[in-house]
Amino acid sequence: MQEKTNTSLSYPVNTTPATGKAVQAGPGVHWLRLPIPFELNHINVWLLDDGDGYTLVDTGISSTKTRQTWQQIFKELIKNKAIKRVIVTHFHPDHFGLARWLCDEQGAEYVSSQETVERTALLLGKTNRENDDARKVFYQRHGIEDWEIFEKFLKGNLYAEIVSGNPLDNSILGQGDTIAIGGNDWQVIMSYGHAPGHICLYCKTLNMLISGDQVLPTISSNVSVYADQPNANPLRDFLDSFQAFAALPEDTIVLPSHGKVFQGLHRRIEEIIGHHDEMLERVVSICQQAHTVTELVPKLFPRKLEGVNTVLAFGETLSHLNYLHAERRLQRKLHAGRYIYSATTD
Ligand SMILES: [Zn+2]
Repeated sequence: MQEKTNTSLSYPVNTTPATGKAVQAGPGVHWLRLPIPFELNHINVWLLDDGDGYTLVDTGISSTKTRQTWQQIFKELIKNKAIKRVIVTHFHPDHFGLARWLCDEQGAEYVSSQETVERTALLLGKTNRENDDARKVFYQRHGIEDWEIFEKFLKGNLYAEIVSGNPLDNSILGQGDTIAIGGNDWQVIMSYGHAPGHICLYCKTLNMLISGDQVLPTISSNVSVYADQPNANPLRDFLDSFQAFAALPEDTIVLPSHGKVFQGLHRRIEEIIGHHDEMLERVVSICQQAHTVTELVPKLFPRKLEGVNTVLAFGETLSHLNYLHAERRLQRKLHAGRYIYSATTD
């Protein structure tokens, strides 16, 4: 399949890696791709030379196919060295999935943010059944009748199937921290909204940014409201997070989790902000007449949605509604057991 290209960006690496093979993205920076069984069919992970071994950023989903790909990488690339450290940008299964397995296999140290560690503990723990009733009310109020897929997705059952478990030990990174990898300093830039405590890494010497899912070249990453924080405003957090990138040079080489290595950081950030602005205006215009979330979803996402995409489209719609509600551009009323949204009149 021909990979999508965003013509407003430039692509300094003129090839993409085949599954299990590495492409050099810069000095000591190996770009690898792992398969994922979703519509989005791959994740990029970054293997960085680190003295007598490697530091890996992100891990792939836990599946037989991904483990086999890793076995091939161990044999052909890692050889008699080892992955000494595994950094996970955020808790999503394509990033965190094989963290435990890789740490066990390679004797690696696990590094992530406080929020990632807490979130994976919650999702893989036994405690999240306690919130069943609150979640049920949340879905009902938004008009969801068939909430089986939401339950499966959010209770951690599905998550537990596609991750290899929590690593036995961890080290925490946060805003302002710097981590030395192979003689280069990488500065931690935290972002929020797509996932709590999402780590990006910037290296001034290499002029490179490992952007995770915060800045992607052709798609905008999902920003969702979930039942555990029904009135959260993750879109505000997501958009505010871009401020932390303002001082980075426009020609920064961006290493994203999906798509191709690119340059044009600020152009791309403007496009992403523009996409959300446009969606916010559409929501306000549709809500000139009162709508529930479930009535809005097919108007904003007209293609047929299935499985996890149903959950993501619902969450993304609600993140735009919560943003507009906080800005007082929409009002929300509980009417006959359902939340309805309508534009406020100035
Ligand atoms: Zn993600």
